[in-house]
Amino acid sequence: MTLLATSAADGAFVIAASCAACGECANVCPEPAAIVSGDVYRIDPDACIRCGACVEVCMTSSIYAARPLAGNT
Ligand code: SF4
Ligand code: SF4
Repeated sequence: MTLLATSAADGAFVIAASCAACGECANVCPEPAAIVSGDVYRIDPDACIRCGACVEVCMTSSIYAARPLAGNT
């Protein structure tokens, strides 16, 4: 998947409070970026390479890009 590739200056993905802490995002993440934080998971913006793999497996649709992926600027 390359459609979400952006420059390192763009925002990483973030996880909303609706996270159910299932851990699937961490399971598919190729980097140590999705980590548990209390009752939810969060994404380390320095480790996230914005591959988008976690977005596709999140059952609660809690993961989204911190900035628009294209256009709208
Ligand atoms: S896959 Fe979604 S619901 Fe599961 S831990 Fe990650 S952000 Fe939370
Ligand atoms: S976008 Fe990719 S690197 Fe970033 S947290 Fe999700 S799976 Fe990990």
